[in-house]
Amino acid sequence: MKVMKFGGTSLGQPERMKEVTKLVTAGNEPVIVVLSALSGTTNALVEIGNELANGHRENAKKLIAALEEKYQVFINSLIEKPESVQKVQNLVAEHFEFLNIILKISFSEALFKDIVAQGELLSTRLFSIYLEEQKIDHVLIPALEFMSIDQNNEPQIGSIKIKLNQLLQKHKHQKLFITQGYICRNSKGEVDNLKRGGSDYSASLIAASINASVCEIWTDIDGMHNNDPRIVNKTIPVEQLSFNEAAELAYFGAKILHPASIWPAQQYNIPVKLLNTMRPSAKGTLITEQAASVGVKAVAAKDGIIAIKIKSSRMLLAYGFLRKIFEIFEKYHTSIDMITTSEVAVSVTIDEENNLPQILKELETFGNVEVDKNQVIISVVGNEISHTPNIVKKLFDSIGNIPVRMVSYGGSKHNISLLVPAEYKTKILKQLNKGMFGLE
Ligand code: ASP
Ligand code: MG
Repeated sequence: MKVMKFGGTSLGQPERMKEVTKLVTAGNEPVIVVLSALSGTTNALVEIGNELANGHRENAKKLIAALEEKYQVFINSLIEKPESVQKVQNLVAEHFEFLNIILKISFSEALFKDIVAQGELLSTRLFSIYLEEQKIDHVLIPALEFMSIDQNNEPQIGSIKIKLNQLLQKHKHQKLFITQGYICRNSKGEVDNLKRGGSDYSASLIAASINASVCEIWTDIDGMHNNDPRIVNKTIPVEQLSFNEAAELAYFGAKILHPASIWPAQQYNIPVKLLNTMRPSAKGTLITEQAASVGVKAVAAKDGIIAIKIKSSRMLLAYGFLRKIFEIFEKYHTSIDMITTSEVAVSVTIDEENNLPQILKELETFGNVEVDKNQVIISVVGNEISHTPNIVKKLFDSIGNIPVRMVSYGGSKHNISLLVPAEYKTKILKQLNKGMFGLE
């Protein structure tokens, strides 16, 4: 059995949904299809939730009406047969009625999660009605019946496995299953989610739970590219990556794959394929345990980075200093991406500002603290790159006189990271494309 996950842009137009239908019915192997919401939907739902949270009911109401209108247009060109038309209209009415009822209830965090869950519930049920209209045999298995997270918002892979396999057992001869990405239940049994972009994570957890032959992530680009195609002119798809390389790239900015989605596949050794719905015959990127080749494969940029330097003469010859500093970040649930140290100072980077004032206040008890906002992490990723001859020379030759705030080298064999001010992002990505890959 395999898993095929389709993102919002692969579903966002009725014609695209029809293409997806061809793809999921093409092979002989049984498939679990994991769907995101149609493109733009989750953003719209988040906006509706935010308006409600701020007490702006009228605005929320308008946004709900606008979204419903979009769905009306969508279903009008997707569904044709009269029996199915009635069904799909009832479905859309049901979900938008729910949103309109929520308008009248006093707002809570739990309601917010109910609101954003509507996107995946709608996309899968719409798809199911379309399949039914086309007489394509399938079963819809609700993610809320098997996908769950614990008190720390971590997926409960053990229980997901048991529940999902029980559900599949009920339909032994079925070959096509449809389910929602992103949504799950939390430890209180409420509707929750795996955070934005979490459908990839759902797909990987499902693939791990059923020991799938492959976890296919279908998007609108031919796999992971060697550089950011939105910034540099010429990029090429990377044919193969190891899980470790893919994890570094996903974490450090390659938007194609949710960073957390690597570990379930890696732990259960399920190959992951990144494929393109617009060009199904393109090779895409295959991610497996072993890297097929040595050397630099790609660069990625992670925006919105804040660098913090703590300088203290107390660090000199002291032990336990780093622990005390890290404990402050731990206390405020803020993860550190990069670190560099000298004998009297340590610099770290974080990617969220939520608890920055409290963190800085506590750090100041250790010494002089300096903050540089608007930085970007540029990660150069590949297999064994720290052993590749001349790599550092080539890297620094490529970037020329761009100022570098931090360098992280040797932390893993797959990554060299540089921290540079955000205004140099485009320039450095272009220069690396030329210098490291020979692409203009
Ligand atoms: N629909 C959700 C989002 O937009 C999950 C996903 O697409 O992966 O974040
Ligand atoms: Mg995505």
